[in-house]
Amino acid sequence: MRSRPTKILAVLAVTGALAASTAATANSAPQQGGNGKKPEIRNVIYLLGDGMGRTHVTAGRERYYGAEGKLNMERLPSYGAVATSAVEKGSDRPALVTDSASAATAWSSGVKTYNAAIGVDSYEKKLPTLMEQAKKSGFATGNVSTAEITDATPAAQMSHALLRGCQGPVYSDAACLPKKDDGSYENKPADKTLITPIAQQIARNGTADVIFGGGLARFAPDDQKALGSQGYQVLGSFGDPALPAQTAESQKVATKADLDKVKGGKVVGLFNRGNLTVEKSKAELPAGAPEKKEPTLAELTKKSISLLDGRSKKGFLLQVEGALIDKRSHANDASQTLGEIKAFDDAVKAATDFAKKDGHTLVVVTADHECAGFNIIEKGTFTNAEAAAPPANNDSGNTANNSVPARSSSANVKDPARSSGIVNGSGAGDAKNFGPATFRTPDDPAGVKDGSEDASLWLTYLSGNHTGADVPIYAYGPGNSAFAASQDNTELYSKMYRSLFGTAPHGH
Ligand SMILES: [Zn+2]
Repeated sequence: MRSRPTKILAVLAVTGALAASTAATANSAPQQGGNGKKPEIRNVIYLLGDGMGRTHVTAGRERYYGAEGKLNMERLPSYGAVATSAVEKGSDRPALVTDSASAATAWSSGVKTYNAAIGVDSYEKKLPTLMEQAKKSGFATGNVSTAEITDATPAAQMSHALLRGCQGPVYSDAACLPKKDDGSYENKPADKTLITPIAQQIARNGTADVIFGGGLARFAPDDQKALGSQGYQVLGSFGDPALPAQTAESQKVATKADLDKVKGGKVVGLFNRGNLTVEKSKAELPAGAPEKKEPTLAELTKKSISLLDGRSKKGFLLQVEGALIDKRSHANDASQTLGEIKAFDDAVKAATDFAKKDGHTLVVVTADHECAGFNIIEKGTFTNAEAAAPPANNDSGNTANNSVPARSSSANVKDPARSSGIVNGSGAGDAKNFGPATFRTPDDPAGVKDGSEDASLWLTYLSGNHTGADVPIYAYGPGNSAFAASQDNTELYSKMYRSLFGTAPHGH
């Protein structure tokens, strides 16, 4: 029995030596520290739940695993926070609430930019992205999202656009050119890439070897041709070149069955013409519904890893986005939001399962911003929006502190005209309804139902838009402790850069 561990040690030693020699050729720049210590990291898997704030994680945990349970992401050894503010266009002045484009540019390039900017700085200058740098230096690369693959988060790693709306299939001023203060369009930039529809850029620049998501309707047959000529396998079909515009009939979405057949190489799979289907809706569709053929985010993650692992001696960079957490939060749909958090967390498990076996993979899990001021309120209580008289503001004489309630009464009581009860129960159709969504948790007694007053998890929203709250970050694998900090979203770029290349990026 003693020979087995020895053998394993010998294998580890050989793997270590290989890693060291790969690293030596990988980085022409001198290693930080210079003590001859090999960098342990070969792969970086970066997963983000779009719109996933601290409370989204808490609510997901309590809903699926109970108060004492943990989501997979919460089991990772490092935990920290990320500040997410953007800047105003044409300046360095902070904009305290970011969108997904600005946030994704921050971690893909290390630079703060304006909301709606994709891979350009606040002054419209094109920025190199981490995925482009990884590709250029020989890493395998992958980009996965449950949104359209041309949407802001995936786009900011593999395209550059003045406006996130410039997704394709065709150019328009309205979608691609920012407006000046007087309402007229800016002049077209000298670098035409910045106003080239994102779909066209993705199909031609070869930045990601593996591209899985939605957004087939953003692409045209000539994009498929361009991908084919670069050696990509394209699942499904981008349409009929004889048609002036593509339709649901002329294009063929990729399916889970197509995905399963892929054995290797560069691949593009777009599984919906728009965003992928919300998991909860998919589950409720009849057996034959075409949406049932879409893979889950965990399946896409697993497949991407299997295609990228070993593709390059250097390793790989994979970005995975759970996009619909944000989209369902905008819609204030707690039930679907929770389902998407679970689906994202399952993808985290797929990534960490691989990383645990591999031993050379850093897994980072975070979000781009919080969405909708999601919160957990005490069972049986109500929000200020529902109150006949919100709590008194003790400093209401201070004009800067203007949360003086327009409604006034002596007691902090619920106003029946503003709240007819539980939003996912019988009062769901009432436009006045501010009432909380309620969900059972595994700790609730048997028989307690979602939407009932007895359910433990009471959830509310502040708005239908993003908030400026910090977001959580978790990390696993070599170098994970660098993320156990209170950090800015631009620092994620330099930390991941260091993980891949072993040196600090220029100017950071
Ligand atoms: Zn959003």
